[in-house]
Amino acid sequence: MSRVVVVGAGVGGLAAAARLATSGHDITVCEQAPQVGGKLGRHERLTAAGRFRFDTGASLLTLPQVFADLFQQTGDPIESVLELSEVEPIIRYRFADGTRLDSTTNPDLLRARLDAAFGPGAGSDWQRLTQRGERIWRSVRGPFLGSTVDGLTGLARQAVRLRSVCAFTPGRTLRQLGARSLRDPRLRTLLERYATYTGSDPRRAPAALAVVPYVEQAFGAWYVRGGLHRLADALHDRVTARGGTVRTEADVVRIETAGGRVSGVQLADGGRLPADVVVANADARHVYRDLLPQPRLLRRARRAVPSLSGFVMLLGVRGRTPGLAHHNVLFPDAYDPEFDAVFGDPAAPVADPTIYISSPDDPAVRPDGHEAWFVLVNAPRHGRGPGAVNWDSPELAGSYAGRLLGLLARRGLPVTDRLLFSEVITPADLARRTRAPGGAIYGASSNGPRAAFLRPGNRSPVPGLFLVGGSAHPGGGLPLVALSAEIVAGLIGPA
Ligand SMILES: Cc1cc2nc3c(=O)[nH]c(=O)nc-3n(C[C@H](O)[C@H](O)[C@H](O)COP(=O)(O)OP(=O)(O)OC[C@H]3O[C@@H](n4cnc5c(N)ncnc54)[C@H](O)[C@@H]3O)c2cc1C
Repeated sequence: MSRVVVVGAGVGGLAAAARLATSGHDITVCEQAPQVGGKLGRHERLTAAGRFRFDTGASLLTLPQVFADLFQQTGDPIESVLELSEVEPIIRYRFADGTRLDSTTNPDLLRARLDAAFGPGAGSDWQRLTQRGERIWRSVRGPFLGSTVDGLTGLARQAVRLRSVCAFTPGRTLRQLGARSLRDPRLRTLLERYATYTGSDPRRAPAALAVVPYVEQAFGAWYVRGGLHRLADALHDRVTARGGTVRTEADVVRIETAGGRVSGVQLADGGRLPADVVVANADARHVYRDLLPQPRLLRRARRAVPSLSGFVMLLGVRGRTPGLAHHNVLFPDAYDPEFDAVFGDPAAPVADPTIYISSPDDPAVRPDGHEAWFVLVNAPRHGRGPGAVNWDSPELAGSYAGRLLGLLARRGLPVTDRLLFSEVITPADLARRTRAPGGAIYGASSNGPRAAFLRPGNRSPVPGLFLVGGSAHPGGGLPLVALSAEIVAGLIGPA
């Protein structure tokens, strides 16, 4: 049995802790924030009308099988602790010219809707593209579907193949793939949106990301009743049920070493926890810069382009909005200025961004006759250097929120007159709450053909130190961070 300290109670840290506790290790999770979940955050607001509950991070769960496996392999099945439901349509898209599209897991229906929205042939164009995504998926699906994985060696091997797939399309970007395969420019916009789900710029992200729309359409989008953050609570409970300890407001300031390997962690309150193994769920750049300074490893971690960040508004809305689905995406006239602003140097808040709204029709998250809107637009990360924006500048957050409300009205969703309240979370807020450098949503982006190789591996060169979560292999997003936890638990092995 090893004494394992997990630094951070994000989904990756909790999932690793649940697996390691189940395999007999002595687990302590240290989380600096007052609650668990990290970027899978939550926010509550009590009003005279009743209680609003928001997810402040992830709002769309793909590949729920990854979590079903996690719960199954660490105790009771997921159904015994969480109520999952499939969301249909997956996303309601509105394009600048007024065209609408409801995406769905039903391939025939999707094809018909694409033809109706974009003209004959659009459905088959899209189908050919997602067939390509399917071929990529078939070569990487082992790590995702537990039942097809033959042991942990197989798992690690499969995870390496994920990197190989990205490397096998050198020089071809997602944009180039769209330009070759999709005749309608609006369909190309739709494809490019998927690059942002890995925090990336479609003009630089590899064509292999065509796997993302395939996965979404093949396996659907899922919701957890009460909010996706309940997943973090359920993981917390699983860790403690398996004998692990989770400490919140336990800020790790140092990972200690002795005799060339990790020996424990130091806490901000002066406490010290001895450890044989440390699993860092904190961002790799925070780890190698602040917790265990390693200039060479920090330089390497910094070679990966950070993921984009997000500007979030939480809106309490009176009444019900006709035509609003659970997940909605409102595209602007032109997409390129968004990527120029987010990844450019200088970077800037996006003047006319794509707007995403999640409004779950779940009585557990909004009072009767009301809606709880989570509004997200892509944003440059927070900072003062090149490629970043100082989101703490006076007036910036308020004026940008006002601008977004105006854009919502122009795109057919006027909401100002029905607002009970509005709160914002800037990239700077996200950085402070979760210690994600600059508020990067997904850790490192997939910008560039070698991006998958630049992400730090799960086994650190420092003996006894492992990395789990979005900044490490295989990347960000809920299913991938859960997969990174499975890889780390496999590398550490049973007690
Ligand atoms: C706005 C937004 C929207 C998103 N939408 C989606 C979506 O729809 N679907 C999807 O799949 N994914 C989405 N994501 C991404 C997804 O939420 C993340 O990839 C995932 O939750 C990250 O998990 P993680 O394990 O990497 O850890 P994180 O959530 O980054 O957690 C790391 C934890 O470590 C803690 N920590 C850091 N340093 C220390 C320290 N020194 N001491 C103690 N604790 C420390 C932090 O406080 C934090 O709790 C979204 C994210 C955001 C922010």
